[in-house]
Amino acid sequence: MNRQRLLNRFLQYVRIDTTANEQTSNYPSTPGQLELGRLLLEQLRELGLADAGQNAHGIVTATVPGNLPGAPPVVAFNAHVDTSPETTGAGVQPQVIENYSGGDLVLPGDPGKVISVAGCPELAACLGHTLITTDGTTLLGADDKAGLAIIMELAQHLLEHPEIPHGPVRLLFTCDEEIGRGTQHVDLEQLGATVCYTFDGGGANQIDHETFSADLAVVTVKGVNIHPSIAKDRMINAVRVAANLVDRLPRDLAPERTSGRAGFLHPYTVEGGVAQVVLRILLRDFETSRLAEHAEVIRRAATATERDFPGCTISVETRKQYRNMAEGLAREPRAVQYAIEAHQQLGRTAELTIVRGGTDGSQLTEKGLPTPNLSSGQHNIHSPLEWASLDEMFAACEVGVEIVRRWGADSRSP
Ligand SMILES: [Zn+2]
Repeated sequence: MNRQRLLNRFLQYVRIDTTANEQTSNYPSTPGQLELGRLLLEQLRELGLADAGQNAHGIVTATVPGNLPGAPPVVAFNAHVDTSPETTGAGVQPQVIENYSGGDLVLPGDPGKVISVAGCPELAACLGHTLITTDGTTLLGADDKAGLAIIMELAQHLLEHPEIPHGPVRLLFTCDEEIGRGTQHVDLEQLGATVCYTFDGGGANQIDHETFSADLAVVTVKGVNIHPSIAKDRMINAVRVAANLVDRLPRDLAPERTSGRAGFLHPYTVEGGVAQVVLRILLRDFETSRLAEHAEVIRRAATATERDFPGCTISVETRKQYRNMAEGLAREPRAVQYAIEAHQQLGRTAELTIVRGGTDGSQLTEKGLPTPNLSSGQHNIHSPLEWASLDEMFAACEVGVEIVRRWGADSRSP
C-alpha cells in the first residue's frame, strides 16, 4: 500500500467542487460530480480495469477481476463523490500537517476557525499522524473523498499483488448521497455483488451495523381564511392550529433531548399560512415497530387539536423512508462477521457502532444488498473544521484488503 499515492489522490479529489444541490431535480445535482466521476473513470482505466464505466446518471463502476477458481462471492465497495451542501466545497485548499504533535489547529484562511482538542477529543488519538484540514473557509470533503481514495488505493494494491487471493471486487462510486439520492440509480442486478461495504464512517476501526428506521409524517392543517376585519367567529387560523399541535408533541421525544438508542419525533419544516399549513415531522427509532407508535402520538395530538379548534381539519400521512440496516444484515451475518475478522487479522479490535441516522448502506441493505459502513478517517464532517487522518485512511485500505481475502476464503456459494 502506498501512503503518498493515497494522499495525492485524496488531495486531487477534494479540489474538485462536488457540493450537492437539493434545489434541483437534476441527477447528479451538480456538474462537478460528473467531472470527478470522469477523473475516477480515467484513473480506473489507467489501472487496466477493462469494464470501468460511468453511466448516464454519473455513477462509476468497475471490477477488479478475481483470481480464484469457481464462483466466489462478489464483494463491492462504495463511496460517494458529492459533498454536503451545509458548507461550501468550492475552492477547497487542503492543508497537510505531517507528524501531528498535539494541540489545537488554527486554520490559516480564517484564524477564527480552530480545530481544538477540547472540541474534538479524537485529535488526541492521532498523535504522529498526517492530518489534512481545510483553510477554514470551506469543508474538506473527506466525507466521502476519503472513501474514494481508500477504494482506489485498495484496487491498485490488489492489482499489484496478485498473490492476495480474492474473488471479483466491484467498485461503486455514487452521487448525491448527501441529499438522500445516493442509491436512486444503483442497479443491484448489474452490480451483482453478494455484499457491499461503504467507506463513509468516522475515525478508525468502527463498523456501523445499525441505523435508524425512518418514516416521514406530513401533517396538513386546513383552516379557514377571511379578511381579519370580518374574521370574528369565522376565521380558523391554520398557523395557530399548527403551533398548538406542535406544542402537544412530547418535548422529551425530540432529537435535542435524546441520545443512544432512543428514538424521536422531529418537526423540521413548517410551510403555509392562515388557510393551510403543512408540517413535516421525522419519525426515527431503532425499533421499526415503534415508528407506528410515534405516528400514533402525532395522530392523538391532531385529534385533540381538532377538538380545540372546531372547523379545522388535520390529516396525518406517513411515508416510509428507510429501515434499520440490522434487519437486512441479519439475513447475511457474514457481512459484519468478516469485517470483524478482518480487523482481528490486523491485530485490531473492531467497534460495532450504531448510527442515529441513515446511510446509503441502509438503503442498499433494504434493497437486498447487505452493506455495513466502515471507518474512513473522516472527522468533523460537513463543517469548515472538517479534518481527516491519512493514517486512518491507510488503515481502512488494509481492512479492505483483509475483507476481500476473508470473502475469498469462503467456500460457500455466493
Ligand atoms: Zn458521507
